[in-house]
Amino acid sequence: MDVAENLKSLQSELPDHVQLVAVSKVHPVDHIMQAYHAGHRDFGENKVQEMTTKAEKMPDDIRWHLIGHLQRNKVKYIVDFVHLIHSVDSVKLLKEIEKRASKVPRVIDVLLQVHIAGEESKFGLDEAECAEVLSSEAFGNMQHVRVRGLMGMATFTDDQEQVKREFNSLKALYERLKERFPANDRWQPEVLSMGMSGDYQLAIEAGSNMVRVGSKIFGERNYDQ
Ligand SMILES: *Cc1c(COP(=O)(O)O)cnc(C)c1O
Repeated sequence: MDVAENLKSLQSELPDHVQLVAVSKVHPVDHIMQAYHAGHRDFGENKVQEMTTKAEKMPDDIRWHLIGHLQRNKVKYIVDFVHLIHSVDSVKLLKEIEKRASKVPRVIDVLLQVHIAGEESKFGLDEAECAEVLSSEAFGNMQHVRVRGLMGMATFTDDQEQVKREFNSLKALYERLKERFPANDRWQPEVLSMGMSGDYQLAIEAGSNMVRVGSKIFGERNYDQ
């Protein structure tokens, strides 16, 4: 598994407007450093503990993306250094991020996670809930978070038409929210994070501008290690 080589061929495939988050969860620091030495700086982790442990051991100029479910009581561990939180799924969580960020102080960029897949995935908001967050008084008063867009995960299936439909629905929702809620200090939608190793081409066709790719760069994850 040549990480630098994989990264290079993937990058050459991606249009210029698509950002790549290399999903390094489960993989050891020395593998991730191969991507770092190849010039890559955006890495995604889905667990707070794993992300903080790795961040301590790795260079400061890495942009860490939290892509997994975030519990409110763990916000404090990442608030100092996280670059983008992809998985905000409640006003309560947003409030906690605001509170912790105000103490640093810094402004933290986040995405709202939208539920687009079938039953299997339990996290994420629907359209009404996104609108509720964006129009809430609590959000209107925040000064230390910026919602930069949306994130979604398609159903894990071979049915390409279904995956396409789900990505298209997220793109359409993104456009509707941009229309309905004019940008301001805390709502600055520029990111549509969708697409993983198995479906990033479909995601890009549907309008993604940020893909989160793991196994195609680092190889299969062995959770038993
Ligand atoms: C693991 C993960 C990815 C990357 O998955 P691959 O199939 O290895 O590319 C992307 N997004 C999220 C939210 C993940 O948890």
